[in-house]
Amino acid sequence: MEKKIPYKIYLSEEEMPTKWYNVRADMPTKPAPLISPADGHALTLEEMNPIFCEELNKQELDNDTKYFDIPQEVLDFYRMYRPSPLVRAYFLEKELGTPAKIYYKFEGNNTSGSHKLNSSIAQAYYAKKQGLKGVTTETGAGQWGTALSMACSYFKLDCKVFMVKVSYEQKPFRREVMRTYGADVTPSPSLTTEVGKRILANHPGTGGSLGCAISEAVEAAVTTPGYRYVLGSVLNQVLLHQTVIGQEVQAALKKYDIKPDILIGCLGGGSNFGGFATPFMGEVLRGEADYKFIGVEPASCPSFTRGKFAYDFCDTGMICPLAKMYTLGSQFMPSANHAGGLRFHGISPILAQLYHDGIFEARAVEQTAVFEAAERFARVEGILPAPESSHAIRVAIDEALKCKETGEAKTIVFNLSGTGYFDMVAYQQYNDGTMSDVIPSDEAIAESLAKLPVVEEK
Ligand SMILES: *Cc1c(COP(=O)(O)O)cnc(C)c1O
Repeated sequence: MEKKIPYKIYLSEEEMPTKWYNVRADMPTKPAPLISPADGHALTLEEMNPIFCEELNKQELDNDTKYFDIPQEVLDFYRMYRPSPLVRAYFLEKELGTPAKIYYKFEGNNTSGSHKLNSSIAQAYYAKKQGLKGVTTETGAGQWGTALSMACSYFKLDCKVFMVKVSYEQKPFRREVMRTYGADVTPSPSLTTEVGKRILANHPGTGGSLGCAISEAVEAAVTTPGYRYVLGSVLNQVLLHQTVIGQEVQAALKKYDIKPDILIGCLGGGSNFGGFATPFMGEVLRGEADYKFIGVEPASCPSFTRGKFAYDFCDTGMICPLAKMYTLGSQFMPSANHAGGLRFHGISPILAQLYHDGIFEARAVEQTAVFEAAERFARVEGILPAPESSHAIRVAIDEALKCKETGEAKTIVFNLSGTGYFDMVAYQQYNDGTMSDVIPSDEAIAESLAKLPVVEEK
């Protein structure tokens, strides 16, 4: 007889993963390296060390080591909020009237409200171990900055966050969470860096952008003794740290002999989907299992479904190294109407290669459909989901409704990357009926792609 599956499957502390899984070791074609915009050569450890932490650079460049031990100090911190539950969405199944079995992994059960803490704690640990005084970073709406400030306060590191000025002024809540954890939060562009002064001279009164905040954070790191720059997504090391998510899902499913058919996650820079899905993709790459993976992106910023697999800048300021990814061009700006998050044009080179090799499919969804799914989910499952995570909910519901038509009882697992408490302006737009779906035209995308940098890979 089938074992009765509880509403929440928790692991014990002993069952938590003690290693991070590096999918690159199982990839037949390795992800393309970061290259210099000047002459196209692959960046070396020596070139990366003045900007990023040394141990993290080693992880970044390592395509061969399959498992990295999670340091004890990081494991200790993980135990404060992990393991996160794998929830059987009995109420959602009933609401949809589907024979499908739906599960979600909930990563929002910590003060930062998302999975980002899984990597920030690792990055802060290595910075401290290197003897650094502090780290710098940029943040848009503030999820990453919040997670990093929590990690830095734990390891007693200084944390300088450059927050896009419009968000700093209009979204004070995450800003105050960061300050509560001791971070120094500067609205960007600022007069504290040369690049900030230059931008302010040219664009007085600008509200800033993520690209500009990245430039300021990098400058602050390389010009302040004892500081390095850290990043919350896109990089190989970030996907590596996030694999605690997928490995916990594997362990929880194994406890009840559950075999998933479809695994779903949302795509921003790729860290939550990568961390959730790559442990399962490893099984597929090693020929041990067969799953269907779906990465979900906004129709207003459709990098995978309508972008190009090419080298591009990771920042709008065009100063950072080039990464090979699916891109709409570093100058592409999603419509100002887009409220659903996931607007960063850069994407993890690991996921780009896996997508290119046909390991997963990508789907683009419109934001009104995303918020409709979010509300439906909130009303029956209780959790108020982040708009980003709700992209995954949308497609999980769509797949479950397909099962209703065909009568198939597929097992669907999706990653619920975070909560939406600080995203109520977006929910308000949806509730007021003022939210619209703006999808870029083919011409707009072609125009942006025409400006991709011309690179010769060496
Ligand atoms: C930042 C964030 C994302 C998108 O980033 P990824 O690196 O693609 O995971 C998704 N969900 C939540 C809740 C986030 O905070």
